Amino acid sequence: MPAHDVLIIGAGLAGQRAALAAARQGASVAIMSKVHPVRSHSVAAAGGINAAISVDDDWHSHAYDTVKGSDFLGDQDAIEVMCSEAPAEVMELEHMGVTFHRNDKGEMDLRAFGGASMKRTAYVADITGQAMLHVLYEQLMKHHENVDFFEEWFTTSLLTDDSGHCCGAIARDVRSGRMEAFGAKNVILACGGAGQVYKPTTNGLIVTGDGIAMAYRVGAPLMDMEMVQYHPTCLVETGILITEGARGEGAHLLNAAGERFMESSAPNKMELASRDVVSRAEQIEINEGRGVGPGGAGIFLDVTVVPRRRTLEALREIVNLGRDFAGVDITREPITIRPGQHYIMGGVKTDARGRTPIEGLYAAGEVACVSVHGGNRLGANSLLDTLIFGRRSGEHAADRAAGMAMPELNGNSRLREDSERIEAIIARPREGRRVSEIKNELGELMNQYAAVFRDEAGLQTALETVGRLKEETEKAWIDDRGTVFNQDVLGAIELGYMVDCAEAIVLGAIERKESRGAQFRTDYPERNDEQWLKHIDITLGEDGPQVSYSPVTITQWQPEERKY
Ligand SMILES: Cc1cc2nc3c(=O)[nH]c(=O)nc-3n(C[C@H](O)[C@H](O)[C@H](O)COP(=O)(O)OP(=O)(O)OC[C@H]3O[C@@H](n4cnc5c(N)ncnc54)[C@H](O)[C@@H]3O)c2cc1C
Repeated sequence: MPAHDVLIIGAGLAGQRAALAAARQGASVAIMSKVHPVRSHSVAAAGGINAAISVDDDWHSHAYDTVKGSDFLGDQDAIEVMCSEAPAEVMELEHMGVTFHRNDKGEMDLRAFGGASMKRTAYVADITGQAMLHVLYEQLMKHHENVDFFEEWFTTSLLTDDSGHCCGAIARDVRSGRMEAFGAKNVILACGGAGQVYKPTTNGLIVTGDGIAMAYRVGAPLMDMEMVQYHPTCLVETGILITEGARGEGAHLLNAAGERFMESSAPNKMELASRDVVSRAEQIEINEGRGVGPGGAGIFLDVTVVPRRRTLEALREIVNLGRDFAGVDITREPITIRPGQHYIMGGVKTDARGRTPIEGLYAAGEVACVSVHGGNRLGANSLLDTLIFGRRSGEHAADRAAGMAMPELNGNSRLREDSERIEAIIARPREGRRVSEIKNELGELMNQYAAVFRDEAGLQTALETVGRLKEETEKAWIDDRGTVFNQDVLGAIELGYMVDCAEAIVLGAIERKESRGAQFRTDYPERNDEQWLKHIDITLGEDGPQVSYSPVTITQWQPEERKY
């Protein structure tokens, strides 16, 4: 049985940054991913990463923008950590080899992004995530003596000992179907978000909430789950993202009358207000009959106002996306977009060192809720979150490992249970519904009732339906009966993770009877600090999900009305 000081589940930016930090401290590290590490979803990140690097900038300004962006639900101590450590972190990545874009003076160039009071987004054209992920992977190669990669291994559950401490995980080798128990002094979850709970979404097929659900199932609380971000510029048919970098470079949003409608909801920031504000404004235009395209279901994003040369240089990937997925040359005509599910602000509750309330279990990146994003994440703050809290988790876990013995692991019964569960899924009779049918219904349901606008009746319908889908998931059948690369059976397990995440999202949205950040309740349209300036925590108890509250940490910025 493999045993390591630190087992990291997830090899996106958070996981790889955690691995590098732990390895540099001499810990033995295992890093596991259900896909090849550089295919982790971080590779899709486009527009950039925020840091107060400019001489005219100050991390306090970045922190204030983040607090305001979060609609005052973000924990200010964690936000201070993230923003104050950002410049050094980004410079370190640059020194490792990330080829950040430079201006004419040869300095690192910065672009404008939503909700930011000045240009502070460093970028590599519109492939920033890819550039960062490949550099980190390369850096980890230097630590091959103490870092073991388990590429294409799928984690099925976390292991806890008799005292409830996390001491490892069970995983399946995707290539062969072999199951294995992994022992560890500490486990860091870096499994990414849960975008596939929605349809459409900007997130890839692998983003299925595995880490959130696995932590929830061993008793870790989930926090801020109701806060699901809709990105303002996604292709209408497919949900594919057109980066906020486009508006950062100056692109306009236009309704059917050719009006820049952001003038009424955000007269100062216009298209560069925070994402929740822009998505709501777009949805209002669409709902009130001022949309464009088939059925008036979209809005025009006009990139033609950006000089063509600049678009081809700094936004080349979305030029390709527009051409390949919408048949539009964005340098010559507007492209039709609409708000689409993009990011989950909630996740596994942690402190600023990545620790969850379960001893030995850490979480970092999109799987976690520190909470630095609160009710709404600012664009380009997620890559930063993955690096800062990935590193901090890795460092802390390595420190903890240095002072303890390897826990006694008896993973055999869990290993047997998970193996039998998989065999049972494979053996299910071809009756009832297929995994893909349930997944489609779940995604469309969430996109209808737990989207930009929500209300009690819709959320109750969603909750009831998720309950039914949960039961159907237990019986859903698959085609592939083999062991080698059986993605079908993994899809069935992922569906189980997704319905757990969906239930927590809907429960949180029902509980929060106010409008704040990404949660807009048409039946409670105002923000209500008196009653709801608090986090909603959801924990799995003996009788199912339990709701409780925790305070928001306020250090320097008192809640105020949010205007852009
Ligand atoms: C299209 C797009 C563009 C974006 N652009 C930006 C941007 O410009 N700036 C910004 O700040 N943010 C951006 N974001 C958000 C940001 O990219 C993500 O939030 C961030 O990259 C998540 O990183 P992560 O390390 O937490 O997870 P991921 O990169 O998603 O990695 C998750 C890892 O966990 C592994 N994993 C998951 N489940 C299992 C399992 N059961 N067993 C084993 N391994 C598992 C996966 O294989 C993967 O290695 C964008 C997001 C999208 C979708």
